[in-house]
Amino acid sequence: MDHFPIFLSTKGQRIVLSGGGDAALAKLRLLMKSQAKISVYAPEPAPEITAWAEEGRLTLHRRPLRLGDVLCAKLFYAADEDETEDARTAAIARAEGALVNIVDNLQDSAFITPAIVDRDPVTIAIGTEGAAPVLARAIKADLEERLPATLGTLARIGKGFRKVADALPFGRPRRDFWRDYYFNAGPHAVAEGETAVEGALHTLLDDHLSRAARPGHIAFVGGGPGDPELLTLKARRALDEADVVIYDRLISSEILELARREALMIDVGKEGFGPSTSQDTINDLLVEHAQGGAQVVRLKSGDATIFGRLDEEIDAVDAHGIGWHIVPGITSASAAVAAIGQSLTKRTRNASVRFLTGHDMKGFADHDWAALARPGEVAAIYMGKKSARFIQGRLIMHGADRATPVTLVENASRPDQRILETTLDRLPTDLADANLTGPALTFYGLAPRAAARLAPEILKEEMA
Ligand code: SAH
Repeated sequence: MDHFPIFLSTKGQRIVLSGGGDAALAKLRLLMKSQAKISVYAPEPAPEITAWAEEGRLTLHRRPLRLGDVLCAKLFYAADEDETEDARTAAIARAEGALVNIVDNLQDSAFITPAIVDRDPVTIAIGTEGAAPVLARAIKADLEERLPATLGTLARIGKGFRKVADALPFGRPRRDFWRDYYFNAGPHAVAEGETAVEGALHTLLDDHLSRAARPGHIAFVGGGPGDPELLTLKARRALDEADVVIYDRLISSEILELARREALMIDVGKEGFGPSTSQDTINDLLVEHAQGGAQVVRLKSGDATIFGRLDEEIDAVDAHGIGWHIVPGITSASAAVAAIGQSLTKRTRNASVRFLTGHDMKGFADHDWAALARPGEVAAIYMGKKSARFIQGRLIMHGADRATPVTLVENASRPDQRILETTLDRLPTDLADANLTGPALTFYGLAPRAAARLAPEILKEEMA
């Protein structure tokens, strides 16, 4: 970060600008939103500038800038759109102690003016270090669209109400109140005018004051296969509201970023067959934090109800009468099958699909191999890497065709996604050669669709 963003107090401060053309106009329109005293030096000012001077919004000097003109000014803008003149005025301003900005000259400027989204008192500044003004404008347009024009009004009225709302206990009760105001009661009332908003604030405060303290609660949330865009809106909201997040190894850092900054983050990463936080410890953590009154998110990869030992955790919290709910997620099989351009079921091929685990608590899991060995069957095998040889053996023993397609998708939906296409016959050898180190989903009975096979990088791009 070359340029460090700050919000500068300009109330009653002097800001000087040299120039009277288009560049000057653009800067002045922004500067006049501030409370600064603005002086403009321009021998031939645009008519708008003359008009603003007549309205008393700035002071106009119809002459070039000279020594002494920038004394006591905070900021100076060189906006003559003439390299020599800009260099001359900037040198004066620097000598007289102002921070200098030369329009369209990043190199010689001490500061830059960001793109601004103005919902006063909410102000958003967007900078790209001069790298991509187009991008800054696109982000600005996006935010303009997303933030209602009434946001400023809501924030201004809300600011006046802060002291009154301090009647609520610090922390979650206060946060809940303000969230309710900005996203619910406020926007509803604002169409009817400021008095209605003030009325709504009082009603809302009474309501929140009379609410019993919210008891601790656990949301079992499916975090999806890794791509943060594959989180559900409900998962995002749960993360946004959580006091405590207890998460697994496969949860990506981009997703953890979405939790509140104050939230307590607890890593209980479990590695298949490897060292792990014991299930009892996880259960105890859940109970302990919920009993302490926290809103807990138990974040599991994919969908929490698939091979996630969810029931053991629910039983543990149920035993203590703690409230909970489940937020479904996109399971890795869904992301992986999308990556190979296939569908999990297909008319005339397979009318059912099995979700299998390659290992259970006792070791390799046993299944109805005879049924699976029939032609056309499809299975999505989780945790199937270490058990590949075992699975191959069982299926062949029950008469499966050695040429049955098998596809592994490693790191599905993540930037480092890889696809390994093989057959039942070659599975263990190809798998050893490929050296897949990330989580992988094994599809028995599915090959990547031809198009996906030809252009894996295109598919990857679509995922990114
Ligand atoms: N509840 C999870 C599964 C947990 S078991 C879900 O619904 O996806 C862990 C196994 O899931 C891993 O061993 C791997 O087989 C699979 N898995 C999880 N994330 C994956 C990903 N991004 N790509 C491929 N497989 C993944």
